[in-house]
Amino acid sequence: MINYRLCSGPRDSLRRTDEKKQMLNNNKTYISKLKNNVGEEVTLNGWLYNSRASGKIQFLIIRDGTGLCQCIAEKGKVSEQLFDELKHLGQESSLMVTGVVRADERSLGGFELTVTDAQIISVTTDYPITPKSHGIDFLLKNRHLHLRSQRQWCIGKIRHTVIDAIRRFFNDNGFTLIDTPIFTAMAAEGEQTLFEADYFGTPMHLTQTGQLHLEAAAMSFGRVYCFGPTFRAEKSKTRRHLTEFWMVEPEVAFIELDGLLELAENFVSFIAAQVLQNNRGELETLDADIAALEKIKPPFYRLSYTEAVDILTGQKTKDFLDKQLEQVKTEKKQIETKISELEHKSASGGLKQWQKDKIAAELIELRSELAEVNTKIENNPKHAKLAAEFQWGKDLGGSDETIISQMHDKPVFVTHYPKQAKAFYMKTDRDNEKVVLNFDLLAPAGFGEIIGGSVREDDYDLLLERIKEQGLNIENYNWYLDLRKYGSVPHGGFGLGVERTVAWLTGEPHIRQCIAFPRLMDKVYI
Ligand code: ATP
Ligand code: MN
Repeated sequence: MINYRLCSGPRDSLRRTDEKKQMLNNNKTYISKLKNNVGEEVTLNGWLYNSRASGKIQFLIIRDGTGLCQCIAEKGKVSEQLFDELKHLGQESSLMVTGVVRADERSLGGFELTVTDAQIISVTTDYPITPKSHGIDFLLKNRHLHLRSQRQWCIGKIRHTVIDAIRRFFNDNGFTLIDTPIFTAMAAEGEQTLFEADYFGTPMHLTQTGQLHLEAAAMSFGRVYCFGPTFRAEKSKTRRHLTEFWMVEPEVAFIELDGLLELAENFVSFIAAQVLQNNRGELETLDADIAALEKIKPPFYRLSYTEAVDILTGQKTKDFLDKQLEQVKTEKKQIETKISELEHKSASGGLKQWQKDKIAAELIELRSELAEVNTKIENNPKHAKLAAEFQWGKDLGGSDETIISQMHDKPVFVTHYPKQAKAFYMKTDRDNEKVVLNFDLLAPAGFGEIIGGSVREDDYDLLLERIKEQGLNIENYNWYLDLRKYGSVPHGGFGLGVERTVAWLTGEPHIRQCIAFPRLMDKVYI
């Protein structure tokens, strides 16, 4: 039998807590909506992001999923007990805070809360990720928690806008969404990057692109797109490659190369404009180059592959790389000076703990910048050599793309690559049999390729020849060849990588930060 008398104490206090929560929830709002409540008392539900006490005042930075807000608790204005609880509350504790909204230009997000009451929901102690810097390996291992950081949050919000813009652009321009399969027997992008899958005893793999199936759909719907995860067993660790990434691919019947370039530049400009419109605050927090994004409007630059090779092997590239080396060396000196100043300061003593922590965090940051600068200095002559000795016929390498892209302030199309360097389905240029009608779009400022696209070979015999040349199993491609047998038309499309686009727009150097749970060649963390 239950002894009610024994239970009544805790039950009462539980009821009181529930009532209080209910009461607080009556005027619940979100940080992103505070502008509607200036002068009013509201409640925020969130987590303690950071806090600092200064005598009789506590500054609590609260995050609630929609933003950050500084909440100020003053001794005497809240109960003694609450003031004390808040003072010892650990980072990432969850709570409900009630207070009066004040507009303040200088404040984070433009608004502050003068705390009148609070309800602590769950106390956290020893949260492993502190506001000071941590190594990337540690952060990836703790990705489930690191997602709460301001940087990851800003990137996630921008990624959301990019994906929304992608869908909007195609939906508003007469494209039909077609979902293409993930299990496939086809190898459109070379057999080296296939992930094997055992499909009830039949060898299959995870798709590298939806394009081939999409071509079939384009012959039914005219203009189509697919959007989903894509898999490539990339065997090199670069900042531009994941093994699982999201790609959107439009495919259009009755289109030539010029039409595709126009579609791509309108599309990318639309994405950039949407991010500028919806995520200015996030871009600012990330220190992204907003002025550069404002320039992303059609027309983009256009270079043929052959022109790109001439640039790479010419004097212009040599001068450019020499100048860059000088700049990086100057930067290195500046970083070294700052490091020694800070080391000196921290050794001098008489500092408060928070000052020491701040210096330690800055030093971690500066040392990682120094390592980056050293890599640049090391790579410069290697990249210069690769560029100078570039042979017509090879695919452009990562460093070659970086150089071309660094020389431009807007995205640049590189078109007409040598046939031998490209996929079997690309259409041979009838005016120059050595090249195909394709393009890569390189994002500016050194970011590199975000789109690859082409007009597709629409001649049955030429396509068959290319499939045979590649040693692909014809049986798997018979249906694809059929498309050239029954009402073949000029058609083409392209693929844009979501993570690379987000990395470029946010100025994030590594694409692993541009997806919530990255899959990398050497490791899947969580
Ligand atoms: P790269 O030469 O840089 O490996 P790719 O030529 O293999 O790229 P495509 O096959 O043209 O790339 O794919 C279209 C787009 O998909 C690329 O422009 C890029 O944005 C994205 N993409 C390709 N591979 C990856 C990857 N491993 N990780 C993330 N994005 C990728
Ligand atoms: Mn690739």
